[in-house]
Amino acid sequence: VSTIRASAQKLQSPDELIDSVETFIFDCDGVIWKGDSLIDGVPQTLDMLRSKGKRLVFVTNNSTKSRKQYGKKFETLGLNVNEEEIFASSFAAAAYLKSIDFPKDKKVYVIGEDGILKELELAGFQYLGGPEDGEKKIELKPGFYMDHDESVGAVVVGFDRYFNYYKVQYGTLCIRENPGCLFIATNRDAVTHLTDAQEWAGGGSMVGAICGSTKQEPLVVGKPSTFMMDYLSNKFGILKSQICMVGDRLDTDILFGQNGGCKTLLVLSGVTNLQMLQSPNNSIQPDFYTNKISDLLTLKAA
Ligand code: PLP
Ligand code: CA
Repeated sequence: VSTIRASAQKLQSPDELIDSVETFIFDCDGVIWKGDSLIDGVPQTLDMLRSKGKRLVFVTNNSTKSRKQYGKKFETLGLNVNEEEIFASSFAAAAYLKSIDFPKDKKVYVIGEDGILKELELAGFQYLGGPEDGEKKIELKPGFYMDHDESVGAVVVGFDRYFNYYKVQYGTLCIRENPGCLFIATNRDAVTHLTDAQEWAGGGSMVGAICGSTKQEPLVVGKPSTFMMDYLSNKFGILKSQICMVGDRLDTDILFGQNGGCKTLLVLSGVTNLQMLQSPNNSIQPDFYTNKISDLLTLKAA
């Protein structure tokens, strides 16, 4: 059943929005920071919301860091954010495996960066792969046969700057040949903004390679899937109708909020501009939009 949504409204009365929810979930890149630079007015906005007793949660699809590593990033940017308030898709992958009681005697094969390895380790899972497999090459001699570990019970795929053919073949063998082996994606973002000079291929490109070779679709734990929203609402005991999801991307953040039954606020400080929001080709309409989160601070109720 498809729901027809009214077009997004420009945020006019932030006080009304703030009073109507108890939790704000903030996407990170494009909302809190851009790359390594803090977006204007963020510290004051977070302070104001905390002073009003709002719970703040930070969710990112970027799986390259663990929540501890993100904690350091927040600290470096001068933001007072606790690790427990940070939910990265790297953490989500480990949390998902925990939630299904993934056996501790099985292994996880990782196509991705350090953040995923760190979270799996913290959760007590055995893993192999990761950046070190980026060094591995395949020498195609006649009769060459590539072995794989039969105790791999899940392949986790995220953004990976050390991606190569060895990893594709290894992950594919595990998924195709190990009975019941899971295929988990941290996220499927098509593009990312490694530099501001151009768009770069995102985590969806690594996931797509494994879809292509296995003819299987992954279980996605990052936005816009509902896993993280269900996890958060259970963990903190919050009603989804009491949450406002704030993000800069329509097909991950806003859809994540809508899939979870939350209020949604699009900010134009990241990848989406007004023209994209209002394009006839866009069917994802947030409840509200505004330029940046500090508008919650400066706009006064009409
Ligand atoms: N994935 C990667 C590799 C990224 O670099 C980024 C943004 O920097 C993202 C995903 C999206 O992150 P977020 O969900 O915080 O916008
Ligand atoms: Ca974002």
